[in-house]
Amino acid sequence: MTIDILSTVAALPAAPAPAARRFRPLVSRTLAAIALSCLVCSGLSLGLHAWLAFSAQADDEQSMARDIAATRLPRLADALRRRDGSAIQHELDLISRYPRLVNARLVAETGATYAAGVPSDLPGAPQGVLHDVLPRAALRGVEMPIAAAGADPSVLGRLELDFDRSGLSAEVRRSVARTAVAIVLPAVLLALLVAWMLHRDISRGLRLIARQAALLKPEELGPPPTWPRPQRRWRDEIDLVADSFQQLHHGIARYVGERDRALRRLGAERDRLESAVQQRTADLTRLNRVLESASRLSARLIYLPPDAYPLALRMALADIAELLGARACALAERGEARRWAWTFSGGPGACPAEGTELPPLFPVDGWQMQWCTESSDCHESRALLHACAAASLQVCRHDAADSGQLLACLDLPQAVEEREIALIAKPLFGALARWRDLAQLEQARRELLHQSRSDALTGLANRRAFDERKLEEVRRAWRSQRPLTLVMIDIDHFKRFNDRYGHAAGDDCLARVARAIGAAFERGGECAARIGGEEFAVLLPDVSPADAERRCGRIRQTLHHMAIPHADSSLGIVTVSMGIAALCLTERPPPDIAFDRLLKRADMALYGAKSAGRDGIVMLM
Ligand code: GH3
Ligand code: MG
Ligand code: MG
Repeated sequence: MTIDILSTVAALPAAPAPAARRFRPLVSRTLAAIALSCLVCSGLSLGLHAWLAFSAQADDEQSMARDIAATRLPRLADALRRRDGSAIQHELDLISRYPRLVNARLVAETGATYAAGVPSDLPGAPQGVLHDVLPRAALRGVEMPIAAAGADPSVLGRLELDFDRSGLSAEVRRSVARTAVAIVLPAVLLALLVAWMLHRDISRGLRLIARQAALLKPEELGPPPTWPRPQRRWRDEIDLVADSFQQLHHGIARYVGERDRALRRLGAERDRLESAVQQRTADLTRLNRVLESASRLSARLIYLPPDAYPLALRMALADIAELLGARACALAERGEARRWAWTFSGGPGACPAEGTELPPLFPVDGWQMQWCTESSDCHESRALLHACAAASLQVCRHDAADSGQLLACLDLPQAVEEREIALIAKPLFGALARWRDLAQLEQARRELLHQSRSDALTGLANRRAFDERKLEEVRRAWRSQRPLTLVMIDIDHFKRFNDRYGHAAGDDCLARVARAIGAAFERGGECAARIGGEEFAVLLPDVSPADAERRCGRIRQTLHHMAIPHADSSLGIVTVSMGIAALCLTERPPPDIAFDRLLKRADMALYGAKSAGRDGIVMLM
């Protein structure tokens, strides 16, 4: 599985689209800027020219006015004083001849008016009569008072002059024409040239670069972009930008290559991790199952009685073999002289036979895991393998000073971890040790019980065991209405035997007589006991007194056959007297009383046998 980063990248939010603003080409903006600057320059140039023309004319008029004031006004004042009209008119004519002076008017204090030159469009002037009348707007009026000469301050009249300023607008027009020729035309040409160069060298190149740059997408990277640039001996900024985009394309291509390689590595690593996780999960699942089995096994075995252990352990081994996928599993224990033997085995396949010995194993201290195959270097491994007739063997062994246990898993898949085997081996070893302890305890308990109920000298049941049985047999006889016969046996003149042959010989004699009695009453349920020094009692359930008498006869014959010497006896050999009585089944007193009565009657029968000369059998019905 690989990571689809391309789709991830594709899923990323796209770059924000440029704001929807009007596109203004660089060329048109450059042209507009040149036109504006040309307009401003033209306006400034025109204004300057107009101002210069205006100032020159104003200076000219000022100097003319000063000259008239200096040269003509005294004459006019004199003519006014004299009230000489022709002289006044003559002076006005002379004044009107000044260049650019359109007309001159004199208004005397007396109210008389004189004029010379071209009349203006003054109010009241006849329009259209004079062909050269100038509009009032084209004139500049100057008023000059005519003062009396000397100390007389009175004003004799007022001279009004109109200068022609119509040439000023012509001058401005000429200036506009000059400016247009000198500035606007070159500016337009320059603008066209700049626009053409901009379009050819910058605008077209930038548009091409912009189009190619828009195609530079890591997920759809095409061949390196090319731009048709004219063949020149020099390079400009557009070439630099083009080179930069070539490098950018190269960088993106390299980045995409590295990214793809990284993605492949990442995908491979992720696949590896995923399979490792799956493997680990499977291992953990199996380990968990092993743990559960181990804990189930411990719980199942912990309260088992010793007798149930062998079957339970065989079943547990079969379960473990199935759980681990092994052919079989077997448990071995170290016994005497450090010899190992198979204790239990289980599983669907062939198992090592229980009780057979293992090849000698080197002692280890504590836990040891051993993986045995045909290719193992270790001789011990190969010997174990052959002993189990397996292709492979996983051995888990625990050796201690006082005990040693071993679990062998036959033909186990190699995938099973050693710690799983160790996990499952621990409760098994614990169970095995516990079983051994319990078996020993049980054995000891049985021995103790046997000892507490048997007579050490003769091996027959003792008085306690006899007393425990007697009431039970009474009840059973009543329940089953089957006969219960009691035989009392006493060795004849045993005191004399002791006295003559010694106590040890007496003990030996007691044991031999007891063996004869035991041999006569060895059927199941029959209880022969030594209840006194040389007295024996035999409980015979479901045996009739007659049958008992026949079997007592066999004892007598045996003793005669044995012929233990007894010099102080009438026959010269050891004999016994026997009394037989049967339980009364019709009466039902308390069992102890019933048995006491039975015992008393058997005793009476024995006494009868003694009285009859010993070595006899008396049956009391
Ligand atoms: P009878 O024929 O009337 O039974 O005579 P008896 O001598 O056998 O009977 P008695 O009751 O007088 O003597 C029993 C003897 O048994 C006394 C004792 O020395 C002997 N005896 C009891 N217990 C043991 C024993 O454990 N070992 C030995 N060696 N002798 C025992
Ligand atoms: Mg006796
Ligand atoms: Mg006795």
